[in-house]
Amino acid sequence: MTKKTKYIFITGGVMSGLGKGILTVSVGKLLQAQGYTIEPLKIDPYLNIDAGTMNPIEHGEVFVLDDGGEVDMDLGNYERFLDLSLSRKNNLTTGKIYKHVIDKERKGDYLGKTVQIIPHITCAIQNWITSLGKDKDFVLIEVGGTVGDIESIPFLEAARELSVTDDVYFIHLVLVPTLDVVGEQKTKPAQHSVRTLGEIGIKPNMVVCRSKRPLEARTRKKLALFCAVKEEKIISDHDSNIYELPLILKEQKVAEKILANLNMKHNGSELKDWKAFVSNLKCTDRKITIAMTGKYMQLHDSYVSINEALDHARAKFRCDIDIKFIETTDIENKTINIKDALKDIDALIVPGGFGSRGTEGKIECIKYARENNIPFLGLCLGFQLACVEFARDVCGLKDAASTEISPDTNNPVIDIMEEQKKIDSMGATMRLGAYPAVLKKGTFIEKLYGTEKVSERHRHRYEVNNRYVPTIENKGLFFSGKSPDGNLMEFLELPEHPYFVATQAHPELKSKPLNPHPLFLGLVNAAIEKKKSS
Ligand code: GLN
Repeated sequence: MTKKTKYIFITGGVMSGLGKGILTVSVGKLLQAQGYTIEPLKIDPYLNIDAGTMNPIEHGEVFVLDDGGEVDMDLGNYERFLDLSLSRKNNLTTGKIYKHVIDKERKGDYLGKTVQIIPHITCAIQNWITSLGKDKDFVLIEVGGTVGDIESIPFLEAARELSVTDDVYFIHLVLVPTLDVVGEQKTKPAQHSVRTLGEIGIKPNMVVCRSKRPLEARTRKKLALFCAVKEEKIISDHDSNIYELPLILKEQKVAEKILANLNMKHNGSELKDWKAFVSNLKCTDRKITIAMTGKYMQLHDSYVSINEALDHARAKFRCDIDIKFIETTDIENKTINIKDALKDIDALIVPGGFGSRGTEGKIECIKYARENNIPFLGLCLGFQLACVEFARDVCGLKDAASTEISPDTNNPVIDIMEEQKKIDSMGATMRLGAYPAVLKKGTFIEKLYGTEKVSERHRHRYEVNNRYVPTIENKGLFFSGKSPDGNLMEFLELPEHPYFVATQAHPELKSKPLNPHPLFLGLVNAAIEKKKSS
């Protein structure tokens, strides 16, 4: 018998950035803990087909899935909280749904008909959602944007239509601000937002209130009255670490309330491991400092998966991490010298990136870490620049470079991949998604992973130029992991150094709270050791 799937829509009101994604997965986590199967869907009401062409400053990190989908960074939280491996079907954009309908129109699938937003786009949205939920207990749908935006109307209309035929539960997330002068939690913005949702024909079953401090009893009462939602369904989502939200919601019996409404059984759940992880995160017995280079440092969201991977690793060691952001253009233009920039750090991460700005400063940082035995982890561009630095400084190829940065260099140690040369469009054309690699037995990295066969996610156009591999390896930098055919260099290490590890991949995308990534565990461990000895 096929399951009767239930649909939970999470909408947001008042303003963006309230944490709808975290709320979505926290609800998912609680239902999962009750033994139910979950399929999450993020709806992004923009016209881009995917997030791949967006700037991290504007939109945050581009998250990459196993199947190569370049998606909204919320999908990273979906995978981290729910311990799932998702596909590009789990991220729907206005661009994707319109393209789908317009392609069908061109094929003649609607022959003779006028193709319209209602019913054709809204039906296509419903079909997307229902086919995603096949054989699952729940589809959790996060509707991006804020209720009242023009862009989200077709999606909300589709949700309303689905609620006529299927079991649908609506959760609306609102902001409940506190005015400093009066110190009182204000409900008016939330009231307006629930009213706007009502105009579209949706009445929320539950209202979740984002606030600085726990919701006060009188605020809850007032909201219940004005939003016509029972007091017990007005939920507090007060400021906390993101990983704490499932526990905050659990205390308020959120899963039980949803399940009761949908006539489903609840079995009780513990979330024991999760609780332990959250308490370890709060543990600050010791502290290390990790420097991270980059050029999108204004925004924490640009490198969110790295920050999360570090959190997962530090919880294991019950250790706090101070991340020191290094704007490498400051090193290039000598606003700060390298010694001062990297003073008192216990490790260095050089993350992925595109374009030339700041790269010479990053190379200087890598050289400093290599020469001063500072634990180093290079990710994608960081891996490429570690090769460039070594080729220049140790192999004596003074003009070694990546052709992404210096197209006319005489020593293109990093060069564009062969298949990339034919590509003339920017969307979804990089080497994307999970690829296997084989680690050489007995190498430092193989020991970290504890296995020879690994699979990591990628997002790049450039690679190590194999012509230079013998020169580099003769001088001691070792490519410990390669693609199964041996053609692509995937991992490198520097024996004799306490921790000099880099990869062409993005291992941060696969780290999970209860299963931290070995390369990040290794880095944090090495940083702790360094701190002990200094
Ligand atoms: N810009 C480099 C490339 O395209 C690195 C990409 C990255 O760091 N994700 O190969």
